[in-house]
Amino acid sequence: MDDASEDPSTTEDDHVEPDQQEKTAVSEGNGRVASQVSDAVQEQDEVSMEELLPYQQGVNIVGDGPTGLTAALYLAKNDIKHVSVFGENETYLHDAYLYNYPGIDAIGGSAFADTVRDQCKAFGATLHTAFVKKVEPMHGGFRITTSDGSHYGSKYLVLAEGDGRKLSESLGLAFEDLDGTRVVKADRYGRTSMERVYAGGWTIRDNRIQAVISAGDGAAIALDILSQEHERKFHDFDVPE
Ligand SMILES: Cc1cc2nc3c(=O)[nH]c(=O)nc-3n(C[C@H](O)[C@H](O)[C@H](O)COP(=O)(O)OP(=O)(O)OC[C@H]3O[C@@H](n4cnc5c(N)ncnc54)[C@H](O)[C@@H]3O)c2cc1C
Repeated sequence: MDDASEDPSTTEDDHVEPDQQEKTAVSEGNGRVASQVSDAVQEQDEVSMEELLPYQQGVNIVGDGPTGLTAALYLAKNDIKHVSVFGENETYLHDAYLYNYPGIDAIGGSAFADTVRDQCKAFGATLHTAFVKKVEPMHGGFRITTSDGSHYGSKYLVLAEGDGRKLSESLGLAFEDLDGTRVVKADRYGRTSMERVYAGGWTIRDNRIQAVISAGDGAAIALDILSQEHERKFHDFDVPE
């Protein structure tokens, strides 16, 4: 179930025969794509503009820890349409009590996560309570498949999957050894080896990790995506009224 109101999911069998190919049929809000399996192989040039639209806009974010949520907050606050976060609200923050988050005296990790989730929703991001089982390039963008078989397309993909890194691995992103830990390779804006795929937080770091570091990574990712979209170096500076 999604935190924001959503249409019911479309589903498909997990296994698709090699001679069958997905036929993306309908595009909807928040990058969701309804789909059906076609008997015939669909040529790329037969795909309509409507079918391609979900893959030409929006940002799908896998992981609802401080990295993913902060990226979503900054993107939605700055009017990026179709910002979606996928996760089951199982961030390590729930095991934490924060005495070390600057600007906050002390707060339980769960209360902190709840507050950021509310901020994301207030700015217009959609939080999907869902486990992502597959990410793949599709129609020039990226497609997410959740465990119930629903598909979601987006132009940008953010992998903030914590210390598991399984989707990053399956997507074929470059990894590197960071003082003995195999992590996703990314630059200081979270750009990975694949264009328009970003990673941050624990996914790109070893155990020298804190909530504020992950939040910072999420903000850096968002600013880079915003810079790409606005074709200028973008920052999010507010001043007192
Ligand atoms: C016991 C403990 C105490 C801590 N105490 C502190 C502290 O006091 N102060 C501090 O600053 N930090 C503390 N931390 C560290 C802090 O929790 C991490 O720095 C922070 O949670 C990392 O954020 P992240 O977004 O990078 O990853 P995570 O918080 O791990 O978030 C990743 C999210 O992605 C989700 N996910 C992964 N794969 C998928 C998938 N395929 N589909 C959908 N969702 C997926 C996970 O369920 C998770 O919700 C503590 C950690 C622990 C374990």
